[in-house]
Amino acid sequence: MNNNPPPTTTPVNPDKRLSVDDEFQFACGPHVPCFTECCRKLDLLLTPFDVLNLRKVLGISSAEFLDSYCRIRVETAHGFPEILLKMDSGEDRRCPFVTRAGCSIYLNRPGACRIYPLGRASTKHPMDGTRKEFYFTVREDHCRGFDEPCTWRVEDWLSDQGMHEYNKINDLLMELYVYRTRGRRVTLGPSHIQMFMMACYNLDRFRDFIFNSPFLSKFEVPSDAVEELRGDDVRLLEFAFRWLKFALFSEPTMVVRGQRGEPSA
Ligand code: SF4
Ligand code: SF4
Repeated sequence: MNNNPPPTTTPVNPDKRLSVDDEFQFACGPHVPCFTECCRKLDLLLTPFDVLNLRKVLGISSAEFLDSYCRIRVETAHGFPEILLKMDSGEDRRCPFVTRAGCSIYLNRPGACRIYPLGRASTKHPMDGTRKEFYFTVREDHCRGFDEPCTWRVEDWLSDQGMHEYNKINDLLMELYVYRTRGRRVTLGPSHIQMFMMACYNLDRFRDFIFNSPFLSKFEVPSDAVEELRGDDVRLLEFAFRWLKFALFSEPTMVVRGQRGEPSA
């Protein structure tokens, strides 16, 4: 669900791969007949960045948020568990944040709610391995937003919805998925999966792991970076991805004290 006025009024063909310069036809807001229809009966995937933002705006700990608002999907194509927002138990399975007036956490709504009606994907060049990003429209049957005579450039939509920061951090998670499915043939056991879940979704515990364990005596982390990690949850989450690359896939992203070498990321 989005609340935005249309910038132009030129209809475009929606059924194709879209670059950031392409256009699509869509508008959403309290004026559409389907307003909030999309906020029920859905599997709403939450990324680590979503969890960080939502527990902050709700003023609760990561553990409380995970316990009260989330369920886990274990069977996934990439092999890592996923977190989904728990819908209410009524027949309608409504999102816990939807109200008659719209989304009660609109400014902090998850990335999946922001980017809709677009999806984002990438292809890998078979010869040189370079990745090319593209977008596409996702048409839900109940969504009347495509009938609105409004046109958006993809890049303008992403900016308007605040997607760039979400994409930047979500790409770090995608890198781990790609390592698991295509790159490293590493077998990950239950303790690795626990580490993944803690670092990605339970940032309070990950902070404890960094600051209240021998972690900082084992690994070289510059003192200014340590201070940043103490005070900035987004930097801490980025650091968590860096740690996971090292811990799960033996990437040289951390420097063990007393050993030579520089981190590569
Ligand atoms: S169904 Fe589509 S147009 Fe209707 S509120 Fe949801 S996103 Fe907006
Ligand atoms: S978080 Fe907000 S926009 Fe997303 S499904 Fe719930 S009510 Fe709708």
